[in-house]
Amino acid sequence: MKILTATAELTPIAQAGGLGDVAAFLPRELEKMGHNAIIVLPKYRAIDIEKWGFKNTHKTLVVQMGYWNEYALLWEGTLPNSTVKVYLVENNEYFDRAGIYGDPIEFSDNDRRFIFFSKAVFEVCKALGYSPDIIHAHDYHTAFTLAFLKEFYQNDPMFSHTAGVYTIHNLAYQGKFNPDTALLYSGIPLSKFQPYSPYEYYGMVNAMKVGIMMADKITTVSPTYSQEIRWSYFGEGLDGVINSRAADFIGILNGIDYDEWNPESDLNISAHYSIGEFDKKSYNKHKLLLDYGLSDYDDMNLPLISMVTRLTDQKGVDLVIAKLEELLSQHNFRFFLLGSGNYNYENYFRYLSHRFPKNALNYIGYNAALSHQVIAASDFFLMPSRFEPCGLTQMYSLRYGTIPIARQTGGIADSVFEYDYNNQSGNGFTFWQYHPDDMAYAISRALSIYNNQPHWNKIRENAMNHNLSATTTATKYLEVYQWAINSQSNA
Ligand code: ADP
Repeated sequence: MKILTATAELTPIAQAGGLGDVAAFLPRELEKMGHNAIIVLPKYRAIDIEKWGFKNTHKTLVVQMGYWNEYALLWEGTLPNSTVKVYLVENNEYFDRAGIYGDPIEFSDNDRRFIFFSKAVFEVCKALGYSPDIIHAHDYHTAFTLAFLKEFYQNDPMFSHTAGVYTIHNLAYQGKFNPDTALLYSGIPLSKFQPYSPYEYYGMVNAMKVGIMMADKITTVSPTYSQEIRWSYFGEGLDGVINSRAADFIGILNGIDYDEWNPESDLNISAHYSIGEFDKKSYNKHKLLLDYGLSDYDDMNLPLISMVTRLTDQKGVDLVIAKLEELLSQHNFRFFLLGSGNYNYENYFRYLSHRFPKNALNYIGYNAALSHQVIAASDFFLMPSRFEPCGLTQMYSLRYGTIPIARQTGGIADSVFEYDYNNQSGNGFTFWQYHPDDMAYAISRALSIYNNQPHWNKIRENAMNHNLSATTTATKYLEVYQWAINSQSNA
């Protein structure tokens, strides 16, 4: 199968979040299975052309925007650890600036930048003579490729058989645009801007809605999130739109990169370990605690609970703030926070370390190597998310035998299961109600399993044995691609 991935992020070349991970592992896995996958990405200023070995093809793309033409240059490279071709679309007016989306405030011309990019995807195919069976677009940035496929390109023999698949990574970011400009740039007539049409959303153009409505099949990154977003609490105003496409919509849990996240070979951690080698795992805890100011005179055997997270409302930080001080006063454990984001949240964790200098440690900032060390070193991983489309960190924790204490929502509910003392099944401690007391109760259940054998070893073995492989995920995406091709050819 020929599969084109259109994406605004790609790990490790240009990453801002989990989208980049999926955009990389999926083509890599598909290629291993014998499929022909290519990736198209904007050429951002931050991409290190030399480091990743990109070459200018000297091919110019003519991209029709509304009634005028614009231009792009095509660069070619390879996704690391694979032979998957990556094509960069260069247009310096749009992409030669700091950042990917604009942070904290999105760039005001994101409609124009990403509509341009979404059109350019088809010109990349023409320049390469690449006739895809599937165009797989991710999140609102590339949603317009699916509209363009149906509106402008399906009559072109190169794309007449092409089916469109759209993946929602986070419904919270939708791309709501002014219709006067968004429709002008995309060349879609204003007459199509009607209530209930794919292009109208409360007087705006909503790119996320466009993707959902124009795809042959839609996926999101976990089965539970695919159910949750049909309800208004999680639906971010698009629950009605999603329900209208419910028959073409499924959730597929992301896998994780087993090469990057492997406690047996991870170059970031001090001691490697496999299932059962928990003494070696504790060495990582010892090392982390020494690095963060404790000494051998301190008790190194206390349970360690950690968080590695963006400090935003989504991640349930308000529950932590409501309860952690009390818990640290009552129970004997340590807490490590690696995170950054909301300034008030950051300050809370600084305050907590001030109050409990030996028991509450923190690193405020983004540090990829430290994220591996913290996850390997910890006994428990706290993740009280308000919502979680998939969530990767609970899965990394499982792989490292670090027991999640997590709220049952989205991808967490599909990967973390309460430990059952009777039949010794389960890999974590969970709570459902978004309430500090429910979180605190899950934490106290977790603390009581610590060193309680045989359960303490058993739960960690269960965690490490849990299948999170990207190959399983890619196989499910292939089924969706085939489903999309079948429905496209029956249309
Ligand atoms: P989200 O994409 O909503 O932030 P995920 O759990 O899907 O949540 O992915 C978060 C990714 O970002 C993980 O790979 C995690 O290790 C990483 N991460 C988050 N915060 C930090 C940080 N402060 N330092 C290093 N890595 C971080």
